[in-house]
Amino acid sequence: MKQGGNRGILLAAALILLLTVCSSCTTKRQEAAAGKRQVINLFTARHYQVDNTIYQEFARRTGIQINEVKGTAEELVELMKQEGQASSADLFVTVDGGILNYAKQSGVLQPISSEAVLRNVPAEWRDPGNYWVGISTRSRVLVYAKDRINPEELSSYEELASDRWEGRVLVRSASSLYNQSLLASFIGLHGEREAARWAEGIVRNLAREPEGGDKAQAVALAAGVGDVAIMNTYYIGQMLNSNDLTELEAAKKLGIVFPNQQTTGTHVNISGIALARHAPNKENALKFIEFVTGKEGQTMLTQGSYEFPVNAEADMPELLRSWQGFKRQPVEIANLGQYHEQAKEIFQSVGWK
Ligand code: FE
Repeated sequence: MKQGGNRGILLAAALILLLTVCSSCTTKRQEAAAGKRQVINLFTARHYQVDNTIYQEFARRTGIQINEVKGTAEELVELMKQEGQASSADLFVTVDGGILNYAKQSGVLQPISSEAVLRNVPAEWRDPGNYWVGISTRSRVLVYAKDRINPEELSSYEELASDRWEGRVLVRSASSLYNQSLLASFIGLHGEREAARWAEGIVRNLAREPEGGDKAQAVALAAGVGDVAIMNTYYIGQMLNSNDLTELEAAKKLGIVFPNQQTTGTHVNISGIALARHAPNKENALKFIEFVTGKEGQTMLTQGSYEFPVNAEADMPELLRSWQGFKRQPVEIANLGQYHEQAKEIFQSVGWK
């Protein structure tokens, strides 16, 4: 997510992009009506390569082409709101359960009415009214340098805020939804004061000012900047299977700990998909949700991104099978969003950039 002053520019750019897409959508809708071409307009805040592979496979099977419109989740929801009934959006895809719930509350979604989807996605990974469903899950874990850290020292998120880790912690900026939802989960579990105390401890212990994404923390860690990083699991999976030698060599030096196994469990979030309220290609959109939550779509997704599948029938990579079975936080994914504003305020007050 981008911050403050950039937002206006980004929104303007996204609007121009949308208008471009919309004019081509109209043509495509007309073509579809003439039986020439079937389309889906997919608004997405995801940024993983595997998504394109999935679109292509879906198109090969169904003849339905996917037009992708990219932006941050908040920008895309804003566009759908502004466009109203004229919106070209069929599907909304994003990371973070809190933002999916925000989209629902913004009135830009409609329930997914598909028996197949309800069979594919267990109730714990979807909205109670089926306004959105998860397509994958990811854990926010502790990653350490194997050559100098004993993983037994890393039992919990709380531990990282103790004096022992002064000057040794790596984590990305407070503008990241991943960090906002992590802190939101602590607000939900322990209350605002405890959550603020944790954030304050992490800021005190930082090895450097937050910069770059999760992968950047791993690369810095392997290079000796800091001893432990807070990261999402799948980035380690992607790096261990990367063609980029820097990433591969860095990942080999790192170990992973699922924290809070004796206490409140490891933080888990989702990527999810939703049907737009005014979807002009609703039937096609439902077919795509069925595909991406079905056994084959889920296998492609997990093999390509190293996120955990939501459908237990998916064939997971060996690495993910070795990570399975950890205890997770007893937190409703949909409820994370209600603490995002408080989380942002805490980050600001403790100086987490
Ligand atoms: Fe990510």
